[in-house]
Amino acid sequence: MKRVGVCAVQGAFAEHRAMLERIGAEAAGIRGRADLKGLDALILPGGESTAQGKLLRELGLFEPMERMIADGLPVYGTCAGMILLAKNIENDGRRHFAAMDITVRRNGYGRQLGSFIARGEFAGMKRVEMPFIRAPYISAAGDGVEVLSEHEGLITAAREKNMLVTAFHPEVTGDERVHRYFLAMI
Ligand code: GLN
Repeated sequence: MKRVGVCAVQGAFAEHRAMLERIGAEAAGIRGRADLKGLDALILPGGESTAQGKLLRELGLFEPMERMIADGLPVYGTCAGMILLAKNIENDGRRHFAAMDITVRRNGYGRQLGSFIARGEFAGMKRVEMPFIRAPYISAAGDGVEVLSEHEGLITAAREKNMLVTAFHPEVTGDERVHRYFLAMI
């Protein structure tokens, strides 16, 4: 069974764990350095990227995770997790893992009313359920980045090497396809 670490310092980690268990993977909550052993993959959930970045540093998780991602561990960042992985953040001076060659815009759909559910194509799969919750979008992607989904002309999911990101939250839906795609990256 594949063992997937779900960063559990803040945000929507419980939903990812439930989804992983439903599709036959083992989900391990990550709260401290000892939890990072023996992982086949890592999920950075949605929530609040500034708070998550701060907590990861305070808990001593930031550097080991940064190394694991650079060494090729499959990682999936949802929403705030996508912001943590982005090399550039258009409207924020902070940088976190800065590992993926994308530029993101935080709260790209507006802060208050920026939540909605769409159905769209993801990696060639049709009518995937896509809840956007104060979501960022990807405003630019480097040559090595594969665009996996777009919503109204804006990039909302992408992959580069071992890194997958979605601006939306498939873990709060019954649609397992994005998580299955991620497990197939392991
Ligand atoms: N708006 C949040 C941020 O900038 C992300 C929202 C989410 O993860 N649902 O960190």
